[in-house]
Amino acid sequence: MKGFEDKIAVVTGSARGIGFAIAEAFAQNGATAVILDLNQEDVNNAVQKIDDAGLRAIGFVADVTDSDSINNIFKEIHHKFEKIDILVNNAGITKDGLIMKMKESDWDAVINVNLKGTFNCTQKVIRYMLKQKFGVIINITSIIGIMGNAGQANYAASKGGIIALTKSSAKEFSSRNIRVNAIAPGFIQTDMTAKLPKEVIDKYTAAIPLSCMGLPKDIANLCIFLASDEANYITGQTIQVDGGLLI
Ligand code: NAP
Repeated sequence: MKGFEDKIAVVTGSARGIGFAIAEAFAQNGATAVILDLNQEDVNNAVQKIDDAGLRAIGFVADVTDSDSINNIFKEIHHKFEKIDILVNNAGITKDGLIMKMKESDWDAVINVNLKGTFNCTQKVIRYMLKQKFGVIINITSIIGIMGNAGQANYAASKGGIIALTKSSAKEFSSRNIRVNAIAPGFIQTDMTAKLPKEVIDKYTAAIPLSCMGLPKDIANLCIFLASDEANYITGQTIQVDGGLLI
């Protein structure tokens, strides 16, 4: 699919994993991908990879929890391109542990990056989208935010919060032609899942009707659809990409 030729697509946490696949897919479909991530070298490498393929990308070091710095980065992106069409809130972390033993700092860190980070970026980009009367926001939640999970109360709460934030944002912004949806990935092959013990991976894979883990591009493909005009009548939804795990 083409059709994103004049679009500016910002993706948070996009130096690797699902975020990189999303940024790359937007670039492959003609957009300028804007990579936001924590580490300068990782950001440079991600931009270089897209550049080497003859596509367009720029990058910024950005921590989604730092609302002032996010504000400045969106200001700079808007100053450069005079618009921001698409925001994908993808940056996310896990710090697993049972509720009984969970450190307050682990609760705070996960809520801060996953939920507050999504709020921060939405709040800072929306002034531009409201003015241009166009925008697409896609929030990456998780099936854990729908089903909950023992040992992941902080992560599940942050991702459940993202689903509620998605619905509220969709209601606030729809009159200005801004659509907000969420994608709930199941079990996807990235560094985040690579750190899980083999028996946990085997247990989940055995429960997936399509019998395998998903790939980052499975999430990227849905992002492209949701950001396209083909999805013009879809807002406030959370769509699962999980190989049927939650059926
Ligand atoms: P990943 O491989 O760990 O990549 C996450 C990226 O986000 C990393 O580049 C990381 O940077 C960056 N990041 C972390 N904290 C950040 C912050 N404060 N500001 C900006 N960037 C930050 O994760 P992934 O598996 O691709 O997951 C991407 C998203 O999908 C997350 O929201 C995750 O919860 C969600 N998800 C993943 C799965 C799965 O199975 N993989 C399933 C459901 C949902 P550093 O490397 O420097 O820390």
